[in-house]
Amino acid sequence: MSESEKVPVQSLSTVKEQVRKQKMFYKTGATRPLEYRVAMLNKLATLIRENEEKILIALKSDLNKSNQEAYTTEVGILLEEIRYTIKHLEKWMKPEKVKTAKTHIGSKGYKIAEPYGVALIIAPWNYPFQLALSPLIGAIAAGNTAIIKPSELTPHTSQLLAQMIQDSFDSQCLHVMEGGVETTQNLLKQSFDYIFFTGSVPVGKIVMEAASKQLIPITLELGGKSPCIVDESANISLAAKRIAFGKLINSGQTCIAPDYLFIHKKVKSLFLEEFKKVVTEFYGQDPIGNEAYGRIVNHKHFECLKNYLGDGKILFGGNLNERELKVEPTIMEPRSSNVPVMQEEIFGPILPLLDFEDLQEVIDYVTERPKPLALYVFTTSEDIEEKVNSTISFGGGCVNDTLMHIATPYLPFGGVGESGIGSYHGKSSFSTFSHYKSVLKQTNKFDFHFRYPNAKNGMKIM
Ligand code: NAD
Repeated sequence: MSESEKVPVQSLSTVKEQVRKQKMFYKTGATRPLEYRVAMLNKLATLIRENEEKILIALKSDLNKSNQEAYTTEVGILLEEIRYTIKHLEKWMKPEKVKTAKTHIGSKGYKIAEPYGVALIIAPWNYPFQLALSPLIGAIAAGNTAIIKPSELTPHTSQLLAQMIQDSFDSQCLHVMEGGVETTQNLLKQSFDYIFFTGSVPVGKIVMEAASKQLIPITLELGGKSPCIVDESANISLAAKRIAFGKLINSGQTCIAPDYLFIHKKVKSLFLEEFKKVVTEFYGQDPIGNEAYGRIVNHKHFECLKNYLGDGKILFGGNLNERELKVEPTIMEPRSSNVPVMQEEIFGPILPLLDFEDLQEVIDYVTERPKPLALYVFTTSEDIEEKVNSTISFGGGCVNDTLMHIATPYLPFGGVGESGIGSYHGKSSFSTFSHYKSVLKQTNKFDFHFRYPNAKNGMKIM
């Protein structure tokens, strides 16, 4: 489907009926046993493995992702998340005993994880396969049913997802609803038990407003401008390599890509040299001519990126291929911090660079702006590492690397402030899709009389 072709629309009645069917099915209790959840997760893993080739083709058509990139960031990561979840699920599902307060002697307290019910998962286009299914793993593990709404901007992946899920799962439990804004609006009118949204800040606000009308709990995985800081003590060639990796994967269309770079004045020219070298190492002398270099999702976004190039002086790159929607890896010095490239989330392979002498300038700049989804600091100084981590609030990040914090199930992933609410991955995905019911089991062996109105002090043995 090309950009000009029509986006599918799911009518209000279709959406309503689908949610009704899932609510009925959820009520039967079928999704609750461990065995059911594990079987569903195994089935999902098999489905992904069996369709690997089709998935890579769809991602190539939608975003020109190379097979290697598509496998690691969209397929392998899901299979690993499923494996990890299955391994730990029984433990996560067990009621968790808590301590007994002195005031509650004789009783026992438990936290019991229960599924919310019917979950809605709304996905973006930049990792269209992974970001639709990664939350789904948590939803299934926690015992929910789910409706997935993939992005209409990556239609090949959306169609494939719909087909795969329809062919292998009962739609009473899992269902994909393809469509764009209208379909999402129809979905947001339904009484879901949980909404998990990944996407932009403005749409996140729309989703939160809709959820608030019915007090539906939500997770918002949003975006924004994620800073990267390179201090003079850093290993510059390694920093350049890891920043280029994080910025150029998927052609910069990654929510946690380093958006802009603060570089210490003393290492600026060395960093530029190393960055140029590493771009050639990754993509050759002509990256936009390289088959394996990703493209920009559509003309509208390409135009945005093209305009950013006018916001300052190009230090490296800056070439475009409009027909193929490709933007060369670019480093630029913005005219000021008020130009659009410094105000908007870039979402492309353009890295604005600002230099600094005193770390405090960087801290002031970042903390005056919305809290970022990610932050990266390259340094060998523990003082600088500590200062950055203790003074700047951000969703998550790395010291001496980029992106890698997202790829471990042991670290919850999510934003803070404008970059999001809640987190997922590993146990955190299970917890996100579970309500922890607090239950106190009281003893009948004795009773404290003083808690009752008009009672005499003391304890009665039963
Ligand atoms: P988007 O907000 O435009 O769209 C996300 C989803 O919302 C899509 O399914 C879309 O159909 C739907 N949508 C769009 N407009 C809508 C409206 N007016 N009403 C209801 N639904 C609507 O985001 P996108 O362009 O697909 O993705 C890019 C954004 O997502 C970036 O900001 C990026 O940082 C963010 N993102 C965040 C994460 C994360 O994990 N935090 C991951 C990937 C992308």
